[in-house]
Amino acid sequence: MNPFSRTRALFCWLALFCAGAIWIARQEYVDQYERFFQSTSIAQRMLSQKTVQHEAVLATLAALSHPPAPERLYPSLQPAMPQLLGLGHLPGGVWAGSQPEPPGLSAAAGRAQQLGRPVTMPVDGARYWLVSPSGWSLLIDARQLVPPADFPPGLGHLTLTVDREPLSLLDKPSEGGLPGWTLALQKPLGAASQPFPMRSTRTLTPATWPWTAWLGWAAASGLLVAGAAAWQRSRAEARRQQEQARLAAMARLSTLGEMAAGIAHELNQPLTAILAQTRAAERLLDDDEERPAVRHALLASAEQARRAADIISRMRALVQPSPPARREALDPDALVASLRFLREPELARQGIRLTWTNATPGARPLGDRVALEQILHNLVQNAADALAGVPGARHIALEGRAVDGTYQFSVSDTGPGIAADALPRLFAPFYTTREQGMGLGLALCDTLAGSMDGRIAARNLSPAGACFTVSLPQAGVPA
Ligand code: ADP
Repeated sequence: MNPFSRTRALFCWLALFCAGAIWIARQEYVDQYERFFQSTSIAQRMLSQKTVQHEAVLATLAALSHPPAPERLYPSLQPAMPQLLGLGHLPGGVWAGSQPEPPGLSAAAGRAQQLGRPVTMPVDGARYWLVSPSGWSLLIDARQLVPPADFPPGLGHLTLTVDREPLSLLDKPSEGGLPGWTLALQKPLGAASQPFPMRSTRTLTPATWPWTAWLGWAAASGLLVAGAAAWQRSRAEARRQQEQARLAAMARLSTLGEMAAGIAHELNQPLTAILAQTRAAERLLDDDEERPAVRHALLASAEQARRAADIISRMRALVQPSPPARREALDPDALVASLRFLREPELARQGIRLTWTNATPGARPLGDRVALEQILHNLVQNAADALAGVPGARHIALEGRAVDGTYQFSVSDTGPGIAADALPRLFAPFYTTREQGMGLGLALCDTLAGSMDGRIAARNLSPAGACFTVSLPQAGVPA
């Protein structure tokens, strides 16, 4: 993956993760709030039930015609009501109770009678007297209304305001001092005589955040984005391959056209020779004395036809990898004699003199006869092409000699030579400077020389002309 698409994938993953994480957090918040709301309602009901119970006790006591003495009554009520600290009444305006008479009791009883329900008289932040219209009074400790362990688990802090200061009924240490999101609800208790405001809070600390869901979503969204990126990459790769295949097909088509033209160019030489030979044979046919000449012309035609077939198979070798060429020790004099026999008449017509010098007569190049013939034919043809517009003496010098374990043919001409910028590209397929040229001749020569473990090179001559050398392994000389 390139850095750009990696950054893009990372960005997509971040965006996807954030959107999902916010949704998860919101769901979690709604869930937590729901639980907190329910827990607060339960706590409020529990406390309210206790306060209503106080009213019921007071009503029962007021209804008794012969109530027991408060000192005796208190121990029997206390086990069922741990919040009860004392009780008493005012029979005939005189206090009788398990505790000393609280100050202001008569006034409170008067107020209760006015309202027709019990009233509270706070002692401190936690304790209060509940005074009924009948004068019966209960001293209640609000801290013991409900044991902290009995409150539902979804609460953090719970306070009840009996007097001025809120009284803490529940304080979970797990929430102390930690940062987080605080949920809060306030409700009064249900009993009309003790409607103390109850406040409940819960802090959603980092410990309660949905880490597992977030982690799961991070992994899932990462996989999702990686999968999407891989799918996109494979699609782009498939598109690239299709495009490459299309380009290759186009290139093949144009190469095919050029190859077809190149084959025509190469075949032109033997076909022209066959034509000339058969015409000559036809002319001589009626004359019995010319029979040997007719035979010779027909044999030469057959030889050219074989060459043409060989050229086609060599052309195929240029485009298709083929097994290594046949190797045999060749006679350079015989090879050049055959070449001269074929080319000299035509060259003579162009005013070109072809000479052959074998500096090492005993030496034999190792190679494929047809391939070597074709190389030499091409080089001689190129030299003749180069000499076409040259005034004065036109000369192609063919030379052969053994050099450092190789046998080297050279074809030199007295033409204009090779342009400096053309030299490095001379053997590249389709490189040509001639109007009718195909640029396949030297490429083919190079391939053919290579298939025989040989080498072909070109240089300019002084004062003018070009020289092409073909080096082949020499028979009898270890490589
Ligand atoms: P073509 O003959 O079709 O152009 P070749 O591959 O045979 O293709 O030759 C490629 C080019 O090499 C020619 O176009 C020409 O510019 C250059 N060249 C080949 N032989 C000679 C030479 N003897 N003298 C000068 N230039 C040459």
